[in-house]
Amino acid sequence: MVPRPHRVARRRRETSNTWTLELEPVSDELLRPAPGQFTMLYAFGVGEVPISVSGYAEGPLVHTVRAVGAVTEAVCASKRGAVLGVRGPFGNSWPVEAAAGGDAVVVAGGIGLAPLRPVLYELVRHRSEYGHAALLYGGRTPADLLYRRELERWRAKLDVDVTVDSAEGGWGGKVGFVAKLVGGARFDSRSTTAFICGPEVMMRTTVQALIERDVSPERIWVSLERNMRCGLGHCGHCQLGPTLICRDGPVYRWDEVEPLLEVREL
Ligand SMILES: Cc1cc2nc3c(=O)[nH]c(=O)nc-3n(C[C@H](O)[C@H](O)[C@H](O)COP(=O)(O)OP(=O)(O)OC[C@H]3O[C@@H](n4cnc5c(N)ncnc54)[C@H](O)[C@@H]3O)c2cc1C
Repeated sequence: MVPRPHRVARRRRETSNTWTLELEPVSDELLRPAPGQFTMLYAFGVGEVPISVSGYAEGPLVHTVRAVGAVTEAVCASKRGAVLGVRGPFGNSWPVEAAAGGDAVVVAGGIGLAPLRPVLYELVRHRSEYGHAALLYGGRTPADLLYRRELERWRAKLDVDVTVDSAEGGWGGKVGFVAKLVGGARFDSRSTTAFICGPEVMMRTTVQALIERDVSPERIWVSLERNMRCGLGHCGHCQLGPTLICRDGPVYRWDEVEPLLEVREL
């Protein structure tokens, strides 16, 4: 439960309200988070929030944070040298290795690309172990797209297809919801594993599109977000039916979690 102090070693602005921070432990060993795991990030004196790991397991701890409220604003405002508290890493991970030997489709909406970036790193690093590998990514507007330079680099190894919900002049790319990209993606539905993260409605429409292309729900994985406090499965804040997202998730197989999403919490 005790946060370990980490110093902001680097920070990069991604969009108007989103920053990527690289954190190094002040005195502890580097953490070794698996793709999909998160930490509880503490802005001292303000509060603690769950934030996914968005970088490599080796090296500094990388988080990409969108400022939406008091704590995330304090985290995003933390300059180089500032100290934040870190608990974790917590949660389970994306089954990236289990997908080897088949095709892989990564579908991200908005900040949902952050928890999927470690999956993309793994796919790129072990590219020969997978068949077709695609990233389908949707942002609200062109200015909201994350990791733009990396998106271009990933094109050398993956099929990268990007769309935005709306755009004014100067955008030569696609406009429309990300689920629409599924129809045109290159993959063999029998061997494909899908990794999805984004707003719940986006995940639902994407799953629907994948199932229409005969991808088995047993090979579709989503990452869920709920309000969290302890991160350890004690407090119950992130309970969803019989499961605690901080302990059993945040990554779930679609056929196992879909019935729970249909139950309205009282
Ligand atoms: C496992 C997990 C991983 C996450 N990873 C990231 C990440 O990599 N990057 C990132 O920017 N954010 C991530 N989030 C969301 C992040 O935790 C929330 O944005 C944060 O808790 C908001 O806290 P706040 O005090 O800044 O704002 P608050 O004032 O608490 O909330 C501001 C707004 O955000 C909404 N909100 C609060 N908590 C959540 C939540 N958990 N999920 C969805 N909406 C929420 C509130 O309803 C409100 O509308 C993740 C959440 C979870 C559960």
